Amino acid sequence: QLNIGVLAVQGDFAEHSHVLRSVGVTATEVRLPKHLDGLDGLIIPGGESTTLSRLMSLYDLRDPVAELAARGQAVWGTCAGMIMLANEITEEDPVPMGLMDVGVQRNAFGRQVDSFEQNLLIQGLGDREYHAIFIRAPVITRVGDAVDVLASLPDGRPVAVQQGKMMATSFHPELTADARIHRYFVSLAGGPPFDPEAPLIDTPRV
Ligand code: GLN
Repeated sequence: QLNIGVLAVQGDFAEHSHVLRSVGVTATEVRLPKHLDGLDGLIIPGGESTTLSRLMSLYDLRDPVAELAARGQAVWGTCAGMIMLANEITEEDPVPMGLMDVGVQRNAFGRQVDSFEQNLLIQGLGDREYHAIFIRAPVITRVGDAVDVLASLPDGRPVAVQQGKMMATSFHPELTADARIHRYFVSLAGGPPFDPEAPLIDTPRV
């Protein structure tokens, strides 16, 4: 069985693990570098990126996560996790890992009360719209040549991108009962090919 790690130092890692298990893969909580051994991919969850950044430094997780990505393994950052993957952010804090060639602006929609939900069409996921939840979300401000935009807001700003086997989403797919993006990521990590025609396997909330 495929084994996907979920960085579990801060943020909503439990929800990601729950969805991963519901689509038939092993979910391993990663708190220390040794927990990265033998993984097929890694999810960096949403939360608070300055805290996430500090804890990743404190537990010496930055280099081994970068090495995992450099080896070509699948890595996906959601929300604060997306901020950590960027190579450029508009704020001074946190210091991102620079694994994806994207620019990111934190808190791009305002304060916590300005969180919102938006239906999106996501490239590769089929014709059914995806209900995306944005919580004090970042937005992608620059997309490098090697990066594909998978989804954008109605105003054109990208909110889901892929670069090789790396993915970043502004929103929180682990909070909705639609596991398509997790299944897509599992396919990038070496699991069964994603079939957009397959019936949705809806996951209950944690
Ligand atoms: N606003 C948070 C930050 O900038 C991200 C929010 C989230 O992950 N839902 O770190």
